[in-house]
Amino acid sequence: MDLKSNEPFWLVKNGLLASYPSLHENISCDVLIVGGGITGSLIAYQCIRDGYNTVLIDKREVCNGSSSATTSMLQYEIDVPLYELIEKIGEKGALASYDACCKAVEDLGKIAHRIKSASGFQLKQSLYYAASKKDAEWLQKEFEARSNAGYDVRWLEPDTVLSKYGIHHNYGAILSAAGGSVDAYKLAHELLLHSYKKGLRVFDKTTLESVQYKKGFNLGTVTGGAVIKAKNIVYCTGYETAGMIKEKFVKLLSSFAIVSEIDKDLYRQYKDILIWNTSKPYLYMRATDDGRFLIGGEDEDFKDPVKRDAMLKEKEQKLLKSFAKIFPDKQFYSDFAWAGTFGETKDGLPYIGEHPDFKRSYFVGGFGGNGITFSVTGMEMVSHWLKGKKHLLSEYFRFGR
Ligand SMILES: Cc1cc2nc3c(=O)[nH]c(=O)nc-3n(C[C@H](O)[C@H](O)[C@H](O)COP(=O)(O)OP(=O)(O)OC[C@H]3O[C@@H](n4cnc5c(N)ncnc54)[C@H](O)[C@@H]3O)c2cc1C
Repeated sequence: MDLKSNEPFWLVKNGLLASYPSLHENISCDVLIVGGGITGSLIAYQCIRDGYNTVLIDKREVCNGSSSATTSMLQYEIDVPLYELIEKIGEKGALASYDACCKAVEDLGKIAHRIKSASGFQLKQSLYYAASKKDAEWLQKEFEARSNAGYDVRWLEPDTVLSKYGIHHNYGAILSAAGGSVDAYKLAHELLLHSYKKGLRVFDKTTLESVQYKKGFNLGTVTGGAVIKAKNIVYCTGYETAGMIKEKFVKLLSSFAIVSEIDKDLYRQYKDILIWNTSKPYLYMRATDDGRFLIGGEDEDFKDPVKRDAMLKEKEQKLLKSFAKIFPDKQFYSDFAWAGTFGETKDGLPYIGEHPDFKRSYFVGGFGGNGITFSVTGMEMVSHWLKGKKHLLSEYFRFGR
């Protein structure tokens, strides 16, 4: 699957931060992690901390899938509003999912700090504004639901949103204390290097071609024929997981993003906040740690990469038009535009768990606007399962739900 257009900003900004050898000989391990994006690098970090003999493989250069194209807003807010999620899956599961995302943002900050990351992790507030009068009605209901659940939220009237954040055409907003952002491409590289120094074996340009399930272990065969004997496999294969599972569980789309040139004024005003709105598809914005402004959205209902990349110029213009409408008194000088595959699930929740067709294996598929925060939660879940413990969220994130 072609996961992104040629030049996502983070790849251009950071370049190829590390390269690992491909695998040519038979090896064995406790845990084989398939996929070296932000999810695989987090799971590997946890497995090494838990003391497992761990191997990670990626069919591309590591971190060259969606994790190089992500805009990396770290949100406790799931694509499906809390009040709606409560209606869909019940209060217990909905609150547990929102709580897990809150915790994930904090946990990621702790990890970034622990490994002395230079990936610009920053805690931020989050502003979710109504883009129409009609949306303001359900957004207020959402505010009540979050407020009743004890989240640190405030309702802001439209004139406050305009005077404080300069956002025109808004109909009120929820201001949340929890949120963050990071350069996920850099963080994934840093995590891999950190774990590599502690014993993680990493092989890139190494595709898992097939798996044989034996009593007590799996035998994975990779490109070129080398075999990996693994007690457990953790699939962190991102949106390409859709092609591995027979049931349809994720809807794949195309999403678009642009970043401005370095702009001191935009940066100063928006460096501490994530902004998103209730449009369908939603529009989102934030400052980057190197002083730019980023806007994303304009999702299209298909994943065809040729069609997607052919729309880049048109989508850049549309995002610029949205910026001009929201901030009529500000300028946005576009520097980079890119596109990537994006995935949505029916309830906004990820698929993290076992699948009956894959023995002694777990999937960590963080989909939707919270892909990264869900992957952080996935670390805790996989860690529990490998130790034979249960996890509260298994029921809500499982396949076949
Ligand atoms: C434009 C855009 C904006 C986004 N914005 C946000 C955001 O603001 N916040 C957020 O949380 N999320 C966001 N996301 C989603 C986020 O990018 C993803 O959730 C995240 O990058 C997924 O990481 P991953 O490691 O699971 O997948 P990937 O980074 O795609 O890594 C999976 C890896 O698995 C490897 N692989 C696949 N199959 C095999 C195999 N058979 N053998 C070996 N290796 C294999 C691939 O090569 C790939 O490197 C956005 C995505 C896009 C495209």
